[in-house]
Amino acid sequence: MTDPFDLTGRTALVTGGSRGIGRAIVEILARHGAAVAFCHLDDDDAAVTFTSELTGAGHEVASRSCDVSSAADVDGLAAWAADTVGHVDIVVNSAGVGGGDRPFEDVDVAEWDRVVGINLRGTYLVAHAFYEPMRRKGWGRIINIASQLAYKGATGLAHYCASKAGVVGFTRALALEGAPHGVLVNAIAPGPVDTALLRGHSESWLADKRASLPLGRVGEVEEIAPTALLLASAAGNYYVGQTLSPNGGDVLL
Ligand code: NAD
Repeated sequence: MTDPFDLTGRTALVTGGSRGIGRAIVEILARHGAAVAFCHLDDDDAAVTFTSELTGAGHEVASRSCDVSSAADVDGLAAWAADTVGHVDIVVNSAGVGGGDRPFEDVDVAEWDRVVGINLRGTYLVAHAFYEPMRRKGWGRIINIASQLAYKGATGLAHYCASKAGVVGFTRALALEGAPHGVLVNAIAPGPVDTALLRGHSESWLADKRASLPLGRVGEVEEIAPTALLLASAAGNYYVGQTLSPNGGDVLL
C-alpha cells in the first residue's frame, strides 16, 4: 500500500521556518520526502544551523530571510523559491507575531497594522504569489496557521485575534476558488504551544493558561506539525476549507 503521508517528489515553501511551529513543519515535511524552502525574518543563525542539520541528514532544504508583510520581499521569495526548489506544490504560512497583551486602548494604528500586516496581509501575499502556478498545474496545497484565538478571543489581543479570524475566513473563501482546480486550502488553529511567541507572555499568564487547559499543559511544536503533514499529503485529499484545531481542549469545536 502506498504511504499516504509520503511527500517524495513534492516541493514546499514554509514561512517562519527558523523556529517554533514553522520549524517543526519544515522538519516533518522534509523527513517525509519533500524538498523544502523556508523563510524567516532576520533569524539567520538559527536558520543556517537548522538548514545544515537537515541537509546533513540528506534532506533538500534551503532558507532565506523575507518579511512576509512586504510585497517586494515576497516577490523576491517567490523568485528565490523557483530557483531553489522549482515549482512549489505546498505552501505553509506559519510566519506570525503575537500581540503582546495590550489593552485595546493601547493598540494604536501602527501596532494594529504591524500585527495584521504580518499575520493576515503576509498570509495573503504569500498565498497570492504561489496560488496561480498551482492552479495552472492543477495541484496545490495551501496551509495557513491561524489560532484558536480566532474563535475564542482573548483579553489584550484584539488585533491578534482579528488577524487570525481573518486567516480563517480567507482560508474558507480561497478554498472554494481553489478546490475545483486541485488547490486545497486549509488552516490549522493551534492552542497554546511552547514557542518563543508564547514565552513572550508573563509567567502568571502562562500559569493561569496551563491551569485552565483540560490536559494541564501547553502543547509542543511536534504535536502541531503532524496536522500540517496530514493537510500537505494525500492523507488530506478530502479536506477543503477546514480549520483543524490541535488545542489541548482549550476550545472544543
Ligand atoms: P515563533 O516566534 O516561535 O516563530 C515565528 C517565526 O515567524 C520565526 O521563524 C520568525 O522569524 C518568523 N517571522 C516573524 N515575523 C515574520 C515576518 N514579518 N516575515 C517572515 N517571517 C516572520 O512563533 P510560533 O509560536 O512558532 O508561531 C508560528 C505561527 O503559529 C504564528 O502564525 C502564530 O500566530 C501561530 N500560533 C502560535 C501559537 C503558540 O501558542 N505558539 C498558538 C496559535 C497560533
